[in-house]
Amino acid sequence: MSQLDHLKSRMAEVSDLKAAAALLSWDQQTCMPRAGAPARAEQIATLEKLAHGRFVTEEVGAWLEGAAAETRALAYESDDASLVRLTRRDYDKARRIPPALVEELARQTSLGMEVWVKARSQSDFSLFQGALQTLVDLQRKLADCLGYRERRYDALLDQYEPGMQSADLDRLFADLKRGLVPLVQEISRKLDSVQDEVLRQRFPIDKQTAFGLELAQEMGFDLGAGRQDESVHPFCTSFSNRDVRITTRFDERFLPSALFGTLHETGHALYEQGVSTALERTPLSGGTSLGIHESQSRMWENLVGRSRGFWKFAYPRLQRTFPQELAGCSLEDFYRAINRVEPSLIRVEADEVTYNLHIMLRYELEVQLVDDSLPVADLPEAWNGKMRDYLGITPPNDALGVLQDVHWSHGLFGYFPTYSLGNLISVQLYDRASREVPGIPADIERGEFSPLLGWLRERVHRHGRKFMPAELVRRVTGEELRAEPFVSYLKAKYGEIYN
Ligand code: ZN
Repeated sequence: MSQLDHLKSRMAEVSDLKAAAALLSWDQQTCMPRAGAPARAEQIATLEKLAHGRFVTEEVGAWLEGAAAETRALAYESDDASLVRLTRRDYDKARRIPPALVEELARQTSLGMEVWVKARSQSDFSLFQGALQTLVDLQRKLADCLGYRERRYDALLDQYEPGMQSADLDRLFADLKRGLVPLVQEISRKLDSVQDEVLRQRFPIDKQTAFGLELAQEMGFDLGAGRQDESVHPFCTSFSNRDVRITTRFDERFLPSALFGTLHETGHALYEQGVSTALERTPLSGGTSLGIHESQSRMWENLVGRSRGFWKFAYPRLQRTFPQELAGCSLEDFYRAINRVEPSLIRVEADEVTYNLHIMLRYELEVQLVDDSLPVADLPEAWNGKMRDYLGITPPNDALGVLQDVHWSHGLFGYFPTYSLGNLISVQLYDRASREVPGIPADIERGEFSPLLGWLRERVHRHGRKFMPAELVRRVTGEELRAEPFVSYLKAKYGEIYN
């Protein structure tokens, strides 16, 4: 056996252990009885510890060195050279984390989520404060183990957006804010010119489910290699490119919630199903970063799913599904309703224009939490203050404010910014796709999604984690990641809707 073969067979084991832990986590969020939480936390912690332990050994280090020599002559983007390159990066990072910390992180994040679910249901931050303090302390420890050049936060961000620094984010977000704030202000003066009452009727959940799944399949989601379930917080997870699962949250009285949630998660699922089978059970399977992942979900949810062209195809079907509810609503009124802009409390239901302000708020707060400049106890007040500054509204309670997102309870710090990165990247990719395949907008009007999906599969999906996110954006679009194309897209679209 070559050194590379040894490395691959070990990484396949590590990948299996991680997939098993992910399956336990999927189960926890979809069907596990609540009382199972403490035992589940131990089970996940054990698997994570085993996966980490099998990875950070001295022999893996030796195989990596041997495999690097064996693959030296291969092309940069070949599967094997990429495997060695990416695994080396992962290995060097994983070696810096003590096994006891890996185990403790897995345990506390699993427990933290249960505490959050309870605190959220009672809308009481004080119930969550202790668990959050534990998680923040662990994240600081983790960042210090991983190491960073300037800010502790950078070590955490790198877990989700490899290679990105908070200084890069600060620049991008400053550009974004410069473009967004005047746009939000202008639209705010005309809020009443677009109405969405039509979306706030009673839409039976079984019909919503069937309609959403039908669209997901039209877009290319293979239900022979995936499924959909319900959870408190919608997500997508996968255990191989042939087992990709999405979840949705339904609201009988608000159609967009599950509809666009499903399109969003479908975007993630298409990416996972599109990763080359040759990369299965290697560290290269799955998406390259959360920002790139989110570019896929936001593209299908917004650039496709909230476009006028898409509803030319889908609206007659939706009217057939809900004939009474939508009888008096024209395609144009529906298009305007689903694109209504309104500063609102809940991030996942925010419109495209205000969405990124929700992200900046979370980013700024978590940087402060990690830097220790904001005590956990002061978080609700800080949250509400920023909501007033950015969106002009004050959350009436914790459930609609600081407790709305699952992320922090799951130990995910450094994750939120990737949502905004995804928005920016989605526009850069879509612009490029539309230039290279000019028929895409017309295809979408006919419900023909394979030209766009085919382009994404070829340029983005099949590569899995081979390239760093900034590298992938450069390779595909020929440009650096920028805020300007996204701002131009919003100005054009909402300039028309809001006159
Ligand atoms: Zn997403």
